[in-house]
Amino acid sequence: MVNTLSLKVVTTLMKVHIFLIALFYFRNWRKTIDILSVLKGQLKKYRGAAGIQKISKVDGMYYWDMYGEGWPSSAFKRNAKREFNRVSNPSLSHVGMRNVLFGITTKCPMRCEHCYEWDNLNLKERLSFSDLQKVIEKLIHYGAGQIHFGGGEPMMRYEDMLSVIKKYSKRTGFWIITSGFQLTEVRAQQLKTAGLTGVCVSIDHHVTESHNTFRNYPQAYEKAQHAVMAANRAGLVTSLSLCVTRQYAQKENIEAYVAMGRRLGVSFIQFLEPRAVGHYNGKEVDLSFEQKYMLEEVFLKVNTEAAHHQDPIIIYHEYYKPTIGCRGAGNGTFYIDPLGEVHACPFCRKSVGNVVTDSIEYCVDRLRAKGCTVPVPEVAKQKTREMEVIEN
Ligand code: SF4
Repeated sequence: MVNTLSLKVVTTLMKVHIFLIALFYFRNWRKTIDILSVLKGQLKKYRGAAGIQKISKVDGMYYWDMYGEGWPSSAFKRNAKREFNRVSNPSLSHVGMRNVLFGITTKCPMRCEHCYEWDNLNLKERLSFSDLQKVIEKLIHYGAGQIHFGGGEPMMRYEDMLSVIKKYSKRTGFWIITSGFQLTEVRAQQLKTAGLTGVCVSIDHHVTESHNTFRNYPQAYEKAQHAVMAANRAGLVTSLSLCVTRQYAQKENIEAYVAMGRRLGVSFIQFLEPRAVGHYNGKEVDLSFEQKYMLEEVFLKVNTEAAHHQDPIIIYHEYYKPTIGCRGAGNGTFYIDPLGEVHACPFCRKSVGNVVTDSIEYCVDRLRAKGCTVPVPEVAKQKTREMEVIEN
């Protein structure tokens, strides 16, 4: 993380830049100020605090969110305009997408406890290389700010992935969501040269044996840690993704996890709550009220308190859902599974179309018509009420 003085300088310059992009875009002072104040309010609800409290510097660029491109860059400018459009024209249905998670392979050597692709795992590959290119062209044309490659394990399709990143990285941002399998120093460097932005490595426990058991793979932890270090050395942005299970959701575990993230030098940690889909289908996996509350407390503390300034930035999607809504279902993101079927997110599975044969516009319209169907949990409603009391 950049120090407090650099943070002030960088955020000031970034704000001036955003203001100028908006002013040139709208060519209207009043509108510029109005739209920027709406976005400022949304940022507070997204991160739990006013303004940007932390920024990570990677390879000369500044990142405050793993779903936003680094500043300064042309991708940052492009994405800022998409956000202006989203806020200024709420009735416009096709303003682009913040990011799309794209499962590019069914293949995976692991057998994770929580795998949402369990039913498709290691089926015959459905998407050809030319399908991958066609889908990426469509997503870029639609205005996807980032494409995150998942699977299966996307590293199982390394050569294809490397080729498309090389070909399209000037037109959109790419991330890889991986278990860390076969992400060696050489590959990390090749991916960086091809134009990859970042790597999100899933680690689901801070204790080696527990992570290996969760992933049902003997060297899973070792591979994940090596992948993070290789990506850091290559100058890629790094993030950890944690599926917070009922058993793991205790304050001391989460604090140990954050400390591990800091030791590994990642910019972000993403908390994901388990859902009863895929390998968890039919199981009781939801976190309790107290566990969700504890996660929110850690999220707010780590992202805002000075004592945690050098800890990674935490992304916790459940935090902002009650105030600014779910970003899934085409409201900022959606999911394409390894068969090409389009879903609201990896956990809300009901195909609305196939990305190879249908247009993105058709799929997004269908996703939006249905919206997010997951009810807002009680803990989130309570937090919203608390925030409203503070704001009033
Ligand atoms: S969660 Fe990912 S790494 Fe684990 S089995 Fe499923 S696809 Fe493989």
